[in-house]
Amino acid sequence: MLILKPEIRSPMWQHTIDSIENYINSVHSLNVAPDLNVEDVRNMFQAMDFETPMDPIAAIDFAVHGFKNYQTHTPHRRYFGLFNPAPSTMGIVADSLVAAFNPQLAAWSHNPFAVELEQHLIRMFGVRFGYDPSAMDGTFTSGGAEANHTAVLTALTDIFPEFARKGLRGLSSQPVFYGSTESHHSFVKASRFCGLGTEAHRRIEVNDDLQMDLSILKEQIRKDKENGFVPFLIVGTGGTTNAGVVDPLTDLADLAAEQGLWFHVDAAWGGAAVLVPELKSVLKGIERSDSITFDSHKWLSVPNAAGMFLTKHPTILDQTCHIEAEYVPKDSEGLGVTDPLSHSLQWSRRMIGLKVFLSLAVAGWKGYENTIRHQTEMGNLLRQELQKADWKVVNPTILPVICFVDAKPMQNPNQYYADILSEVLSSGKVWISTTQLGGTRSVLRACITNVLTDADDIRILIHELDGARQKIRGTL
Ligand SMILES: *Cc1c(COP(=O)(O)O)cnc(C)c1O
Repeated sequence: MLILKPEIRSPMWQHTIDSIENYINSVHSLNVAPDLNVEDVRNMFQAMDFETPMDPIAAIDFAVHGFKNYQTHTPHRRYFGLFNPAPSTMGIVADSLVAAFNPQLAAWSHNPFAVELEQHLIRMFGVRFGYDPSAMDGTFTSGGAEANHTAVLTALTDIFPEFARKGLRGLSSQPVFYGSTESHHSFVKASRFCGLGTEAHRRIEVNDDLQMDLSILKEQIRKDKENGFVPFLIVGTGGTTNAGVVDPLTDLADLAAEQGLWFHVDAAWGGAAVLVPELKSVLKGIERSDSITFDSHKWLSVPNAAGMFLTKHPTILDQTCHIEAEYVPKDSEGLGVTDPLSHSLQWSRRMIGLKVFLSLAVAGWKGYENTIRHQTEMGNLLRQELQKADWKVVNPTILPVICFVDAKPMQNPNQYYADILSEVLSSGKVWISTTQLGGTRSVLRACITNVLTDADDIRILIHELDGARQKIRGTL
């Protein structure tokens, strides 16, 4: 029953492919965000008690129906959302191949092809970020959160050689690290998961441009040292989730070097800017980092999830993750190769890199350069159109995340933008969100996330926004 017979498989594959093809072609005419009613979703599972085996085609249809009706359609061209793109076609193919061949990325000898493919990609991306491919290392991760967690762990392991054996309690003073108040919340988790505690994560205020404020950072480091804490890591963000803002990476690199700290750049989304010559300089300084987080399931549009952790320290991942286990095959000993289980928290690991590899192989660097440029241009167009329609863009970035407010100041901005948002979303035609900049300023946020988004989509968004504004203002 688990491995179906060839005569059943064949039409079933075809049905699966047809369902995928149908979704890809029709998603843009669906409501971007369908009504998400808890009861309705749960009711779908009422009859699913697994007592009677189901016909495979009916089972597939059940899943397709569920996805179609009960998800925010992130592959929609007017999903102006949270870095969740439409998955690349080759990425979908890759994930199917991976499921079928089921490579086990624990020991090198179980899948030299998969391991070397991923290592090749890690080095190729390292080069793009300005690392020396012969003096670096890295691993694919479950996402940016794991990559950031890895950064904190490797930094601890590097700066405190006794940490790996004795843990934090073996250290004579409390280690602390720095990121801005706009840095990703995965660092809050990482500080807990590493046993540091959230107080060890110093969240430094941002300046008017939403970048980590350098003078506040310096002052905090000085104070921490004076009070017996031990700084070990500075995190710069290369494109914040909220507003696409890049911290002053070169200054942070200088400061980290001067203070002897690990310098990590979280470029989960914004990192893709290095693939476009005229955007690359926005990340200047990233080449001086000790490590980088980069998510290819964001701006490289591969299916969830394909994070990367890259580091300039060729042995630090081994120092952090290496183990000896009797049952792990030893056939790769002496070959100068890496067992993936010594490079991350994960053990039996799914192959993550193939969806990046096949997407890149077919698009080429040039293909990616063109799509990222196109999306950046659409971001610029959206800024212009918003300004023309009396909205005010408030985040300083050239990357296509646009935070904006009504040009006319409003009494109760929290409520006002929440009302505009719910009105816009109820149309089903577009998806945007609200956020708070610097933790205080309510704004609307739209990010060009889809490679297909074009000028017509931008116009539809503006139209929906204007309609919502008129309606809400009319009721004030
Ligand atoms: C998305 C994001 C993360 C988290 O990555 P996941 O892949 O969702 O785990 C971390 N940092 C930044 C800047 C991000 O945009």
